[in-house]
Amino acid sequence: MTMPSQTIEVIAISPGIAIGRVMRIRSHTRLQEPEPHVISEKEVAGELERFNSALSLTRVQLNALQNQVRSRLNAGDADIFAAHLMLAEDRTLLGSIERLIKEKHLSAENALFRAGEHFADALAAMPDEYLRERAADVRDVVSRIMANLAEEPAHSPDLDAKRIIVAQTLTPSETVLFDRNKILGFAVETGSATSHTAILARSLQLPAVAGIPPELPEQLTGDDKIIIDGFSGKLIINPDVRTEEAYRLKREAAGELRNALAKESTLEPETTDGFLIQLAANLDSPEHVAEARQAGARAVGLFRTEYLYLNRNDLPTEEEQFEVYKEMLTVCEDAPVIIRTLDVGGDKFNTNIYRSSEANPFLGLRGIRLCIHERRDIFETQLRALLRAGVFGNLRIMLPMVSSVDEVLTVKQIIAKLQQDLAAEHKEFVSNPSLGVMIETPAAALLAERFAPLVDFFSIGTNDLVQYTMAIDRGNERVAYLYRPSHPAILELIHRCVQAADQHNIWVSICGQMAADATLTPLLVGLGVHELSMPPVAIGPVRRVIRSISMYEAENAAREALACNNSFETLAIAQELLMRCAPEIADIQEARSQN
Ligand code: PEP
Ligand code: MG
Repeated sequence: MTMPSQTIEVIAISPGIAIGRVMRIRSHTRLQEPEPHVISEKEVAGELERFNSALSLTRVQLNALQNQVRSRLNAGDADIFAAHLMLAEDRTLLGSIERLIKEKHLSAENALFRAGEHFADALAAMPDEYLRERAADVRDVVSRIMANLAEEPAHSPDLDAKRIIVAQTLTPSETVLFDRNKILGFAVETGSATSHTAILARSLQLPAVAGIPPELPEQLTGDDKIIIDGFSGKLIINPDVRTEEAYRLKREAAGELRNALAKESTLEPETTDGFLIQLAANLDSPEHVAEARQAGARAVGLFRTEYLYLNRNDLPTEEEQFEVYKEMLTVCEDAPVIIRTLDVGGDKFNTNIYRSSEANPFLGLRGIRLCIHERRDIFETQLRALLRAGVFGNLRIMLPMVSSVDEVLTVKQIIAKLQQDLAAEHKEFVSNPSLGVMIETPAAALLAERFAPLVDFFSIGTNDLVQYTMAIDRGNERVAYLYRPSHPAILELIHRCVQAADQHNIWVSICGQMAADATLTPLLVGLGVHELSMPPVAIGPVRRVIRSISMYEAENAAREALACNNSFETLAIAQELLMRCAPEIADIQEARSQN
């Protein structure tokens, strides 16, 4: 049975329109208890057989996934499924399921649920965080077997036809597995535009929305057709013919504009009065350099190295990192490449790095804090790899989550010591690497003048700067309405950074998601930012806006915006300029009625 036609306002987290049938993904965080069902003695053998065939199918799927991930991504990512496979063979778990079927006469579903929850709860109560996290893996495997018992497609990115994924939540590691050719987009309950899942969705060019009603993943079935509008934040269930047609046209128009913008990739990103703004790409792997170059990026403005550390059971060695950084720098030739040092903590974890739990991880041992205070060994390994790889290109080292000048001074001392070690080992290294800081905390922005003489560049990480300035968790959809990069407080902080950078003659870039928002481009250009770094897919619209406005108009708009009281007013100023100079881009921007 399909659901009645309806339109739901949601949060746009990755632009684009997707139209298609639903693929539900069960969330392992919310495994639903099956209806109680007791079987007779006669049915026991059949029930055991049903369970065992669902289990065999699960093992086949997990094996296939492991191989697929190993060939598409890397061995580290494939390990997630190796661990799942071990759980699907765990004698304690399987033994208790069999006992519950044989002795208590529970149905396979009931036995699986009860034994699985018991096992997961026991792990969740462990003092060791690594073991506690395994509870989620148990629930993931249980839900996969459960889906196979129900003969439903399992929680797997292997889809027969292109579909739209609907789920309670998706982790970054689940999202990274998506095959662009098989998935049209996704709709989730939890998440926001700056969560790492959303960032990955944009890299994969998948339209996505968040904030869907919690009951929706259970209510929708594979027969329901939905539209997700990742521009304006809408989810339409079983649209009528006219609505579907209107969205098809919108999708087509967006596609045509995308093609037109792609043809402009060799044009200079300069304003109509001749001011050049550098466009750079945020990349997670050297494989995407060609795509970024094709989109018109002239630099790598942010290489997030934490993906080298996540979803694996060990840590990357100096040699392994050296090879990755060297490849990145070599393929980029002379173009500047900003490589950010490890930024785990917040919503990104690897239990090999740090195991104790924190009440507020986003305010805890994250980024440079963790590297300096808890895991200097890991930090030094990474810095050695960077210093060695630096001789192969135009390396810029960037420190995340900085809030005090002492942190920069400490890192400089560490670098100096590592350089001495490398010299003693007769290894080649860069003697004077360019060093910059991310401006992600209000403290760093307010003290920009004091940081500027110590570093070679600033890169403003607005994703976190907004989170910490507005005091809202960037991944929490319930406060997403307060997440306003155009808030005058944010513009003021950017303004301060640019002024400090100009005074000390250093480079200032923005690498947070705000840089990818073409509506805000006029304000950022007017504030005097030198570089905008974003996922390659966002470059086309931003370049079109830069080429459509004059610095004179942009500066006036920025000046007016700085004097505003709230983000309604600042946004109205940006939108007015956009509508006047590049109305075609205004049409494909996210609707912001909720501002
Ligand atoms: C930011 O905070 O703006 C940023 C680019 O870093 P991340 O999104 O990885 O925290
Ligand atoms: Mg950040």
